[in-house]
Amino acid sequence: MTRVTVVRDILEANDRLAAENRRLFDEADVRVVNLMSAPGAGKTTLLERTIASLDLRIGVVEGDIQGSQDAERIDAAGARSVQINTNGACHLDANMVASALGELPLPELDLLVIENVGNLVCPAEFKVGEHAKAMLLSLPEGDDKPAKYPLMFRESRALVINKMDLAPHVDADPDRIERDARTINPEIEVFRVSCKTGAGLDAWLDWLRRLRAH
Ligand code: MG
Ligand code: ZN
Repeated sequence: MTRVTVVRDILEANDRLAAENRRLFDEADVRVVNLMSAPGAGKTTLLERTIASLDLRIGVVEGDIQGSQDAERIDAAGARSVQINTNGACHLDANMVASALGELPLPELDLLVIENVGNLVCPAEFKVGEHAKAMLLSLPEGDDKPAKYPLMFRESRALVINKMDLAPHVDADPDRIERDARTINPEIEVFRVSCKTGAGLDAWLDWLRRLRAH
């Protein structure tokens, strides 16, 4: 068996488990977002802001290689959370998410956010049963990221450009990020925000409300 075949088999097995997760989500009428970014882009901070401001019942699956700091922050923000530690794996897969779902009261939630492991590469390859993928790119990471990591931009329905408050201090150009992201994925919705100041977050919250409504 060639390596290509092995990889394809792994992804097909994952897709079957993701479809089963999706069936559970639909049965419970909960809308699910797979949130991805590099480490330190601000996923957990965005979720703290979102939980504080959004008029929906939110649950969070926290994926981290180790530790539970992020789940503790989510609990403190007032949402239900469950921590997954991947013990070295650099992305979440459908099986890991399935194993955590028993810890959450799905029918009591409107929105479930799956915060993936910080990594711009393979989280985009593994479906976990989500209705939509969203990604965060923080401005200081650089405006070359859509060109260098196109898969995640292609797979995401929403791109949140965070840390816009740092724009005067970094050379990255948010117009270039947005232009290159749209070249890869013409349908992508782009939000420029600062999770530190709260600027721009209303449009992101609206996007989540629309996702919930459809
Ligand atoms: Mg985090
Ligand atoms: Zn990985």
